[in-house]
Amino acid sequence: MHVLVVEDDPAVAVPLKEGLERNGFTVDLVSYAAQVVPAVRESAPDLVLLDLGLPDGDGLEVLREIRKTSDVPVIIATARGEETDRIVGLELGSDDYVVKPFSVRELAARIRAVGRRRRREPTTSSARVVVDRDRREATIDGEVVDLTAKEFDLLAVLAEEPGRVVPRQELFARVWDPVWVGTGKTLDVHVASLRRKVGDPGLIETVRGVGYRLAES
Ligand code: CA
Repeated sequence: MHVLVVEDDPAVAVPLKEGLERNGFTVDLVSYAAQVVPAVRESAPDLVLLDLGLPDGDGLEVLREIRKTSDVPVIIATARGEETDRIVGLELGSDDYVVKPFSVRELAARIRAVGRRRRREPTTSSARVVVDRDRREATIDGEVVDLTAKEFDLLAVLAEEPGRVVPRQELFARVWDPVWVGTGKTLDVHVASLRRKVGDPGLIETVRGVGYRLAES
């Protein structure tokens, strides 16, 4: 697996690159925001680890640029306590995040988890919602809806079985991480955004205290 590491601090970047290589990853390293999109285009990495604090720009802006042209999995690296960055990052289509300082071991596990989630992709559908996991394309009533990676994954899980209430814990585990310890707010933010995009607020129903379900048509 080929990982593009975006990190400007050599004291972090160098041991990180060596550690990931010891774990069997091929690693390219860039230090500037302006280098990221060209590097994604040229070297087609399997995953990007993106530091948010870069000398020439904001990592979230870089993520927004990446998502204009690429669906490459992105893990963002944030400083402790910056919950807003994590939520905005997820909104913009990052797949996961790690909080600094993190160990190479933790990062390697998260990279592999993101890779596994991206590979588990059969097509699922209900009458109104069709989710094509291979093409990562969702249609509602025949119209393609433009979703972030997380919104797509959420809809894909809900669409597997319309009418079934999917517990919040299950959504966290399947869309984010089996050991997700973030706040519930992230899930609600994503559902709210997904509802706006599908254009029918009644399609995804809240079952208070339990979870969400896709309305049966
Ligand atoms: Ca930095």
